Amino acid sequence: MALIASKIMTLSREQFILLLLALIGLGFLVQQTQQPPLQTSLWRGGALSTQRVARQSLSAAFAPQSATEHPSGNPLRNPRTVITQGYGVGSHAPASVWGGIDLAVDGDGDGKADPQGTWRAPVYATHDGVARVRPDTWPGGNYLAIENNRYKTAYAHLDSYAVVDGQPIVRGQLIGYVGSTGMSSGPHLHYEVWEHGINRDPLDFDVLRHEW
Ligand SMILES: [Zn+2]
Repeated sequence: MALIASKIMTLSREQFILLLLALIGLGFLVQQTQQPPLQTSLWRGGALSTQRVARQSLSAAFAPQSATEHPSGNPLRNPRTVITQGYGVGSHAPASVWGGIDLAVDGDGDGKADPQGTWRAPVYATHDGVARVRPDTWPGGNYLAIENNRYKTAYAHLDSYAVVDGQPIVRGQLIGYVGSTGMSSGPHLHYEVWEHGINRDPLDFDVLRHEW
């Protein structure tokens, strides 16, 4: 640095102005070529390079923000839903990577979730977006994300899908069925909410409102 600094000090006025212009031009180029950072989630399947393209086209498709683009409600839409693992605890830590909650159904009404009530329970989209179907991932198993230009919700360990990859989805639409695929010890829905690539606590998105 000292050498460069000393060279700068010995430039003619014309050389100094040229150097200044070159540095401004370089700064502009660097700014132009900088891309927004890609979010990386271990739950995400598929090639990262396609995600950026998808997000750009989504921005165009979902330019106006509407109420149904905002995730809201319990994806199981069942008043007998039980949270079997909370946000940021156990396997959901660290929340910035794995943040979500696990939902299951109390089928026999004893206050506890049970596999009979949970297995193949219907799962509904909590907001509008486009379906990203990623079967056979680890640890998310049959994983599904619904994305728009602001929000992404994720639904993991599904038994099966009710939608196909790339399908436009509206809030309340049946999207799949609860299963125990991937790293899972029993049927449950692992549900995540992301806003602008930042993991959020689903409890901030009315996930305890079961009927909507
Ligand atoms: Zn989970």
